Amino acid sequence: MSQVVDNLYTDKVPLPVATKTKFMNHVNEEHQDELALFVEAFADTKLSNEMAVVVAEVYSDGLLLEASVQNVGLLLNLEADARPDAVSQFFIEFENVIDETITLKSQYINLLQVASKKLGKQAIKQQERHFTVIDGYYASPNMFRLVVAAPADTPLNHAGYAYLFEMNADVSISHESTNASEKLQRYYTLRKAWQDAETQQIQGWVDTYIHGDTPGGNWARAALAGTQLKSVRDYPEKIAHLNDGQCLLICDETSIPTVANLLENWQNPIAPIVIVVTCDVADRVYLQDIEFSQTLAQIDNFKQHNIVHILNTPAINLPDTIISTIDSCLEATSIHIDKIWGAISAADAKVLRRQLKAQFDLSRQDMVMKVYWRAS
Ligand SMILES: Cc1cc2nc3c(=O)[nH]c(=O)nc-3n(C[C@H](O)[C@H](O)[C@H](O)COP(=O)(O)OP(=O)(O)OC[C@H]3O[C@@H](n4cnc5c(N)ncnc54)[C@H](O)[C@@H]3O)c2cc1C
Repeated sequence: MSQVVDNLYTDKVPLPVATKTKFMNHVNEEHQDELALFVEAFADTKLSNEMAVVVAEVYSDGLLLEASVQNVGLLLNLEADARPDAVSQFFIEFENVIDETITLKSQYINLLQVASKKLGKQAIKQQERHFTVIDGYYASPNMFRLVVAAPADTPLNHAGYAYLFEMNADVSISHESTNASEKLQRYYTLRKAWQDAETQQIQGWVDTYIHGDTPGGNWARAALAGTQLKSVRDYPEKIAHLNDGQCLLICDETSIPTVANLLENWQNPIAPIVIVVTCDVADRVYLQDIEFSQTLAQIDNFKQHNIVHILNTPAINLPDTIISTIDSCLEATSIHIDKIWGAISAADAKVLRRQLKAQFDLSRQDMVMKVYWRAS
């Protein structure tokens, strides 16, 4: 599936700019870890943490990836024979050639699935899932909770396991009659899942942030008991790096379900520092009643010491406020942040990813700052 290019120029014709620019910008900014995964899986090359990898070109039959050394100073400190090449190229071939019927997105997801399987990692799954609404209520003033009956193979302990729900899905409508461009979809995380002791049925919570008249919030509030919900994709969040080291978690209303689940299942003996951003102080109660894992329950005053709230208002610069909050948490301690997981808006994630990576000298694997929503 791959071939090392070694500075050879191919005679391939790149895809037209209109088709690929948005894709390249998005993947190069937010999914470098996946590109490194492709290089490892298909070119048997594990890129060192000092290497950044980007899509340099997109062809109808594959991606040209370019890995380069980010920290040149560090490179110069290495013995000559220990230095990786400054720039290496890898051609990663798609399973199918892109044409009118095969999309770039489908081929990228396919690469992700094959690479993850090869390396024994969990990946996106393109599959239909059906949930039945049992109940709905507010878990906090702006967080609407759906209690659902879930498929039997639903993961019970994977914090951040999300589903891509179709807002206008009517399960009685066949695939052929629903045009892909008409589909309105939103990811929502399985906040918690369990097996009901009486019925043996798998049940779960899906918590949706309600902020005005928006498709996600309207979909959740309209789902009465008995409503069938359809998801078309499973997305397991990347959390494996949080198993050890001093972790920092950053969430807003859209990612607080993942953080709540992480804290319920936390096994890492070092307690994380948690930054929680909400637009309404009243939503702080969301984390009030959660039952911390045994590991965290043993730590004195974990909630008071380690969970820090930020009120998001139009008057603040959120990335700056998050950075200064972290600085004051660490002030007068010798704590060093080893790992980060966060999920916020695209604009803020872009700024924080750069700043925090540099501030704590974090590798690609240890710094996960996801985009959960975009300003429209
Ligand atoms: C993997 C993944 C898991 C997710 N899990 C959840 C989840 O469990 N619960 C959940 O509620 N969302 C979750 N999201 C986000 C969700 O998919 C939606 O993008 C989000 O809820 C906004 O959708 P909407 O239809 O309500 O608003 P949109 O119509 O998409 O947005 C309307 C406006 O609201 C603003 N907006 C949206 N979110 C916020 C915010 N947090 N703070 C301030 N302004 C905002 C935007 O600027 C936009 O202008 C997840 C996203 C991903 C990628």
